[in-house]
Amino acid sequence: MNAPSDNYRHQGLRRRLVEVLRKRGVIDEAVLAAIGSVPRHLFIDDTAFLSMAYEDTAFPIPCGQTISQPYTVAIQSELLGLMPGHRVLEVGTGSGYQTAVLAHLGCKVFSVERHKPLYLQTKDRLARLGIRAALFHGDGYAGLPKEAPFDRIIVTCGAPEVPERLVEQLRTGGRMVIPVGEGEVQRMLLVHRDQQGALIRLDKGAFRFVPMLKDKAV
Ligand code: SAH
Repeated sequence: MNAPSDNYRHQGLRRRLVEVLRKRGVIDEAVLAAIGSVPRHLFIDDTAFLSMAYEDTAFPIPCGQTISQPYTVAIQSELLGLMPGHRVLEVGTGSGYQTAVLAHLGCKVFSVERHKPLYLQTKDRLARLGIRAALFHGDGYAGLPKEAPFDRIIVTCGAPEVPERLVEQLRTGGRMVIPVGEGEVQRMLLVHRDQQGALIRLDKGAFRFVPMLKDKAV
């Protein structure tokens, strides 16, 4: 395979995408810088969509899944209030684009994907791009108890409810962003575990995600 290429044209398109996200209300400069740096075109396999890699839209990826829309990636990252060094659990690795944004923000990322072909392909892709993240093939409902607790948890598929086992893996003072809802549209919930261990839930609006599936990893 050829070495991944990222040229001035791609960089220019990313700068434009960052301005689009700014206009849509993204304010976290570190998140915007990460979106401005991660080569999203290298996370899209279907050449039919390559020319649209820097449009603010979702695209199909293998196994019937989607690479999240840049606005969604930015908002989920912003809501998490990420700091370099945070241990972050991601459920739904997919293409690895959100994983790469988290890694660019200096987080130590642990990401779980239930589709084996996606897990394998993304592991290879991140390695080729020199992006460090610990990837796992498994069921995100179980989280990663061996790596817990996490400072932050991000779920990138629509869950029917907030999974109890993920809440258990959130550090006191930690935050989770998770789209919750069984239909085509979910509510983005920000779940905060306060110093007493109580959970505070905030509704951050409507988003669309592929579903978080309950059966075992495939
Ligand atoms: N962040 C990814 C989003 C991919 S779509 C990106 O930007 O590319 C959501 C992903 O969640 C899909 O790859 C899907 O296979 C995965 N998923 C769904 N249910 C899951 C589960 N229970 N455990 C782990 N991954 C799951």
